[in-house]
Amino acid sequence: MVMPTDTLYGTYRCPVCGHRDAVELRADDESRIIECSYCDTQLEITSRGADSARFAVQVAAPRAAS
Ligand SMILES: [Zn+2]
Repeated sequence: MVMPTDTLYGTYRCPVCGHRDAVELRADDESRIIECSYCDTQLEITSRGADSARFAVQVAAPRAAS
């Protein structure tokens, strides 16, 4: 039996620096923690469904603003 490759491929926009980049998300994962490739902020990427090529993003670990 062949298992389909349920990998979602889409883009995110970093809410901190506005950088856009592409990321993969496994279809069986609700969300994934990544680091912005530009500012290294930890971001939580959440799928909006297989039909959406844009992931929802929120900051997972805000940096201390000191
Ligand atoms: Zn960023």
